[in-house]
Amino acid sequence: MSTSRENRLRVAIQKSGRLSERSLDLLKNCGLQFARSKDKLFWYGKDFPVDLLLVRDDDIPRLLLDGVCDLGFVGENIAMEVMLERNGGEGLRPLRQLGFGQCRLCIAVPEDMDITDSAELEGKRIATSYPALTRHLLDKKGINTEIVELAGSVEIAPGLGTADAISDLVSTGTTLRANHLRELEVLFESQASLYGRDGAISTQRQLLLDRLLARLEGVMQASESKYVMLHAPRNALEKITELLPGVEHPSIMPLEGTDRIAIHAVCGETVFWEHLEALKAAGASAILVLPVEKMLA
Ligand code: ATP
Ligand code: ZN
Repeated sequence: MSTSRENRLRVAIQKSGRLSERSLDLLKNCGLQFARSKDKLFWYGKDFPVDLLLVRDDDIPRLLLDGVCDLGFVGENIAMEVMLERNGGEGLRPLRQLGFGQCRLCIAVPEDMDITDSAELEGKRIATSYPALTRHLLDKKGINTEIVELAGSVEIAPGLGTADAISDLVSTGTTLRANHLRELEVLFESQASLYGRDGAISTQRQLLLDRLLARLEGVMQASESKYVMLHAPRNALEKITELLPGVEHPSIMPLEGTDRIAIHAVCGETVFWEHLEALKAAGASAILVLPVEKMLA
């Protein structure tokens, strides 16, 4: 087992918050196991030379830019904010969207404000915890505003009179409604993503990175996939293949002494009840849908 930093990858994830559990689950599903340190901030990778750093999500992009870690699981909103604020919008390399932590950066205004278009915010005060990203996105639309930077509780700023509108992260919209605000416009759609750093890394680390990315791809694909088994009339094969979501080449086995066949296939897209009903209507029987645990293309 190699111990030098050069032969190991360091991955940063959020210590506690909305992204923590899913990030750690993904790494564990990639076969990584960790020995926790006493301070619980650094976890040593046991079988695979990948170590974990548990930090505040806001620190992850900076740790990447400074070369303290090689990979980071973080919301695109944070990655963009830090890159724009610190590095002219560059420096981090998005490697893969992770399909969780979905939210949107929205402009919201008081419910009773008479406004239909963000262009009408010209010259107004916008409270946000994402000053660089908000300014960048409003600049692109040619709207000049005064940005009021707040670390938290952005949604109460209009009520307090410290801003006319806000630019904040929304997932369900409950917080906005509770504060008598309404969504005017979506500025940016975000989800958790895996980031690396622009520029070359050592060959050894690149090899490790490629292995980890291949495993991650397999885990992500497996979680989206289902293994479907069914029986069908031989002459319905073409129709059945068309009805299986995300399948091109199913495996086909004859059922001795009948004109029916068994079809097995990995469906790369979500399998809904509607799909199963359509398969049954096309002559399929004994339909089984199973989860896929691991996958390596
Ligand atoms: P930390 O202590 O690590 O700084 P935090 O309070 O900044 O935590 P969380 O609230 O856990 O962070 O959010 C982490 C990320 O989750 C956000 O940056 C964003 O990418 C994503 N997210 C998803 N839905 C929401 C939401 N409704 N509000 C805020 N963030 C959300
Ligand atoms: Zn944070």
